[in-house]
Amino acid sequence: MRVKIGFEIHEQLATRTKLFCTSPADYRDAEPNTNVCEICLGLPGAKPMGVNADAVEGVVAIALMLNCEIVQEPVYILRKHYDYPDLPSGYQRTSMPIGRNGELAGVKIWEVHLEEDPGKYDPVTGKVDYNRSGVPLVEIVTAPDITSPEEARAFMRELVKVLHYSGRVRREGGTMRVDVNVSIEDGARVEIKNINSIKGLYRALKFEITRQKNLRRRGRAVKRETRAYIEEQMITRSMRTKETAEDYRYIPDPDLPPLRLTPELVERVRSQLPEAPHQKLQRFMQQYRISKDDAWAITSEPELADAFERVCKEVEPLRAAAFFRHIIKKTLNYHNLSFAESGITVEDIVEVLQAMSSGRLSQQAGELVIREVVQQRRRASELVQQLSRVDERSLERAVEQALAENQKAVQDYLNGRKEAINFLLGQVMRITGGRADAAKALQMLRERLS
Ligand SMILES: [Zn+2]
Repeated sequence: MRVKIGFEIHEQLATRTKLFCTSPADYRDAEPNTNVCEICLGLPGAKPMGVNADAVEGVVAIALMLNCEIVQEPVYILRKHYDYPDLPSGYQRTSMPIGRNGELAGVKIWEVHLEEDPGKYDPVTGKVDYNRSGVPLVEIVTAPDITSPEEARAFMRELVKVLHYSGRVRREGGTMRVDVNVSIEDGARVEIKNINSIKGLYRALKFEITRQKNLRRRGRAVKRETRAYIEEQMITRSMRTKETAEDYRYIPDPDLPPLRLTPELVERVRSQLPEAPHQKLQRFMQQYRISKDDAWAITSEPELADAFERVCKEVEPLRAAAFFRHIIKKTLNYHNLSFAESGITVEDIVEVLQAMSSGRLSQQAGELVIREVVQQRRRASELVQQLSRVDERSLERAVEQALAENQKAVQDYLNGRKEAINFLLGQVMRITGGRADAAKALQMLRERLS
């Protein structure tokens, strides 16, 4: 049965202030309901101060990176009415489309809007925190071009990458919200709300598609409705039958003049656009002559890609690429951290790679240093000291000690049981705390035993 999936994605813009007032847009360290003013609280009589120009430019930049055309007609700010405790004014302000007819990874981008975040309502305690009320959001609406949960996951990863590359959205995590609409065989469209991770999106879709298919198999109709994704149980649950656009009673906000996205503004934003992920990937393959797989891994986040370019000023790119993909990415994935969160610096990476190429550090020790930098937040310079291979003189002493303490193994070797040398090598490694160059130690053992 054919599945059709489309998205509405909301992400907070990384502006200094909120959309219609001067309250800070970053409320992460604030006590509940302290990062507010009469405007973002929607108190009676409070009027918006006009639209935050940074937020408008942010949405234009994102729309351009999603290959949209920018709307040239006046863009009205609409009031979208609904009744919920997170919205004291009774309406949410949302712009008409700013970008249209875009495309990313084979999925059509229908519209890109600017919107204000509502407050945060906790239905369990009944408490509302208005700290985020009025924070600017970009809203991205896709066509229902996606046909499976796997495709949905791949597309969302690509979209998140573009948003991060744009430099215009919050990176601290946990602020993205996705509404998904899904239908099978042209049946009724079901919307799933309350998804805030790619993993959650994948699970919600898996569950919802199975639910709809089971209904169809039993000859029952799929109702047009809105369902909530319940993260803990990995299921979706009916919230309400779907509102139609009329239910929201959209009207242009009389307090706000429409936005004019002049060709000059659009050109200025376009000329300052950062490199898109796919452009960076192509450039890395050509400029550094690295494989597509390496370039793909390294361009997965902009900070990682920047670090790679800085490391390449000191280290041969092919070696750096292998280290980034196989050691750094592996460690980040294991800890589920982004490079920016990991605490790894360019200096750390250069230190390790140089110690490895001079032979002071083994491959394994190099990986261990990166792990320790992430886990212990220590610097590579001190760790490399600790984990460096023992020098020639200490290695000789360790070999002598291993031979002296293990006469039986020595005799076995001399009597023709050549594999006894592996035991002796193990002893050398134990004595040196694993910091011996194994090949060199083996060669020394053979010389002594001949
Ligand atoms: Zn405010």
